[in-house]
Amino acid sequence: MDFIPEDILKYCEDHSDKEHPLLLKITRETHAKVLMPRMLSGHLQGRILSMMSHMIRPKRILEIGTYTGYSGICLAEGLTPDGIMYTIDINDELAPMVNRFFEEAGLSDRIKYLLGNALEIIPTLEETFDLVFVDADKINYAKYYDLVIDKVRPGGYIISDNVLWSGKVIVEAGQKIDKDTRAILDFNTKVQNDPRVENVLMPIRDGLLVARKK
Ligand code: SAH
Ligand code: CA
Repeated sequence: MDFIPEDILKYCEDHSDKEHPLLLKITRETHAKVLMPRMLSGHLQGRILSMMSHMIRPKRILEIGTYTGYSGICLAEGLTPDGIMYTIDINDELAPMVNRFFEEAGLSDRIKYLLGNALEIIPTLEETFDLVFVDADKINYAKYYDLVIDKVRPGGYIISDNVLWSGKVIVEAGQKIDKDTRAILDFNTKVQNDPRVENVLMPIRDGLLVARKK
């Protein structure tokens, strides 16, 4: 979901780096073969994630929610030459496709693609992360945050996607709130009240909440 007018968005895309042919191919194949292609990060958000990653220059990235690999490839662009990205997804049906994309990106040896429930996998990772991207099931955002916060170095970042939840975070008086919206609302409040981080909610696409660990 975009909150800015289509023509402005197009102007922004026209003045941002083009989408790499592999990322275009991932978008095409995801639309053709995979359910819920709207979960793809897309051109502008992809370039923003890549730019943020280049600014951070992470040695260790953790991505929670690989899907078809689009955001992961964008984030991995900013890794240091000796850097490694872990990316976790519970959906193993996508694995052959995703492995092929990581291979084509020349990233197979720098991306550790872990299949399973992130809630179980994260505690087994013995790493200190410079950058964490949270983009899996919304209901567990607060749990992911709690699981990763002690694994992020001081000065490291946790970036969480879809925190505006198509605008559903704006609740009218008396309106019913569904489970996912409730989870996102509670998550945003939790980060806002957490003295361990500085945070800014960027109105990029569906909302990126950037938290920097003090
Ligand atoms: N980051 C991707 C989109 C992720 S979509 C991009 O921007 O291109 C969300 C993904 O989270 C889905 O692929 C889904 O399978 C995964 N997911 C949902 N629950 C999960 C869990 N408990 N553990 C790991 N992955 C999960
Ligand atoms: Ca997302």
